[in-house]
Amino acid sequence: MRVVAIDGPAASGKSSTARAVARAIGFHHLDSGALYRALTRVALDAGLDLEQLDVPALLARAERRGLGLRPAGEDFVPLLDGAPAEALIRTPEVTAAVSAVSAVPEVRDWANARMRALAEAGVPVVVDGRDIGSVVFPEAGLKIFLHAKPLVRAMRRLAQRGGPEASDEEIHAEADRLKARDKADSSRPVAPLVSPDDAVEIDTSRMAFQEQVDGIAALARAVYRLPEA
Ligand code: C5P
Repeated sequence: MRVVAIDGPAASGKSSTARAVARAIGFHHLDSGALYRALTRVALDAGLDLEQLDVPALLARAERRGLGLRPAGEDFVPLLDGAPAEALIRTPEVTAAVSAVSAVPEVRDWANARMRALAEAGVPVVVDGRDIGSVVFPEAGLKIFLHAKPLVRAMRRLAQRGGPEASDEEIHAEADRLKARDKADSSRPVAPLVSPDDAVEIDTSRMAFQEQVDGIAALARAVYRLPEA
């Protein structure tokens, strides 16, 4: 099994970094948050009570709607009702509800089984999330934990959205939302956001994107004896 695990708090750049690293080393990219977001979309569409989540009902609906991961180039994209679900899972409504859904152990078991099945089938993957190195793939050959200061993460997130430059007020409000989600993800009893002891910790607050990608790709090439780019 060849796995590079990239964990970190919300908007730490995990997904974009994981995607770029996967391309650089010829692995596939798997965004575990997308699975939790897609499950949250299903729960919201079904009108399920998120505080008292009926997990069998949620998982039955997810299966019925064909929630899964489809290979698309070097990525795995979440699929719902036979179509890519990206636009449906990146809404503020899903973002606000996802921590409640992902805190449920049976939901995590379901998502973890899907991720492990891919890696066990021999697909080399760069997986990003919150518990990839600690729980999902504790045997991963390379574990990375990305940090960045909340204000830096908020500015990057708002810049990604495009449009006019964000005001100080918007940046602080976004940083507060990120901190609230980090708190929920770090304080839950099951699979909390933690940096595994054997992870390489990288603070990207002052790093250029390409610098962090090149650094992680170099580590992965060394661990898995991959050819130089
Ligand atoms: O990475 P992203 O922000 O899209 O993740 C959305 C949410 O999914 C996180 O806030 C967290 O609650 C959950 N998640 C998780 N474990 C993972 C990945 C994401 O609990 N491995």
